[in-house]
Amino acid sequence: MALINENYLKLKAGYLFPEIGRRTRAFAQAHPEAKIIRLGIGDVVKALPKPVVRAMKAAAEELAHDETFRGYPPEQGYDFLLQAVVDNEYRPRGVEILPEEVFISDSSKCDSANIQEVFGLDNVIALTDPVYPVYCDSNVIAGRTGLPDEQGRYAGMVYLPCTAENGFVPDLPREHVDIIYLCSPNNPTGAVMTRQALEQWVEFARRKRAIILFDAAYESYITDPEIPHSIYEIPGAREVAIELRSYSKTAGFTGTRCAFTVVPKELVAYTRSGDAASVHPIWYRRQTTKFNGVAYVVQRGAEASYSPQGKKAVGKLIKYYLANAKYMRQQLGACGYTVYGGVNAPYLWLRTPEGKTSWEFFDLLLNQANVVGTPGAGFGAAGEGYLRLSAFNHREAIEEAMARIARL
Ligand SMILES: *Cc1c(COP(=O)(O)O)cnc(C)c1O
Repeated sequence: MALINENYLKLKAGYLFPEIGRRTRAFAQAHPEAKIIRLGIGDVVKALPKPVVRAMKAAAEELAHDETFRGYPPEQGYDFLLQAVVDNEYRPRGVEILPEEVFISDSSKCDSANIQEVFGLDNVIALTDPVYPVYCDSNVIAGRTGLPDEQGRYAGMVYLPCTAENGFVPDLPREHVDIIYLCSPNNPTGAVMTRQALEQWVEFARRKRAIILFDAAYESYITDPEIPHSIYEIPGAREVAIELRSYSKTAGFTGTRCAFTVVPKELVAYTRSGDAASVHPIWYRRQTTKFNGVAYVVQRGAEASYSPQGKKAVGKLIKYYLANAKYMRQQLGACGYTVYGGVNAPYLWLRTPEGKTSWEFFDLLLNQANVVGTPGAGFGAAGEGYLRLSAFNHREAIEEAMARIARL
């Protein structure tokens, strides 16, 4: 008799985005004339930068000839991209990362779900609330939790509330924790962690021999020069932090797929008997066993995002979405909404009007403005009373959406 992985059965039914899709489709069927504007799922809309496309075309042409054809890529990534990451993402910020500490992958979502595999099942996991659901669900599936309570909080998990009171930046836990997921700039709240906040967390992790999994998928949206772009800008972070980055929201690679994860050589976790075990070779082993590398064409495209023209084009994309976010902040503010985020991140975190739950406000926006947001409660119990709006849309759509909301 084949047994199922019962951990999957613990997952809350009605995962956020399918439920949003269901309600949106139902509304569209009932109102075929409505022009729905989607500010829900965090997907980019602008075309790939031209220098990236040129590099991908040239790479495809190389594959068209036996002399320049390439088969399986190296699991960890081609040297040209590993070096480009080190030279462009880290060295200019005064951070020394070795090319072999970088692991190119096809997805930060996958890396953030897979990374927990290299750690023991008895680790206590700390998550912010609200949170990117992947961090949570991947640990539930691995068997690190019990069942969820009515608010969706899984037994055995430590939740760090991020609220208006703490500026949506998690306070250090009082409970014992071993592994902490942090995301800055944050999806969904749009909040950023200051240098001081990051220093506190690095100091905490060092003291507790804990590990921080730092998701910096939105680092290129940071506008404030005082905010670190990498956790490795904090002294001592190399011993306690893994960093995840992606080309998805920076260079428009959500459909092209390329990301990377940094695992410094100094990072250690411990055996039950208390011996230090280096994490780097274990993640390397995991990747070489379960992953077979990113397409050559895609890695050449990612590399081209660092050329002078590539950087210019990527900068333009980010500016475009940030200008959307700024406009949304202004318009929503003028309508009397309390708005957070949208300054160093492409997300706005909107307080729902008095007395409305986040799903009620979602329904109101869908039905009366034909605008789709994401209910904050879908990201965790502390997200109740909020709605996430994404700045990832064309300017005209953003202006139309704001005008409709203003007329409510
Ligand atoms: C979009 C996003 C990513 C990027 O995921 P990819 O799989 O690389 O597209 C990672 N983390 C967060 C929090 C995100 O919102």
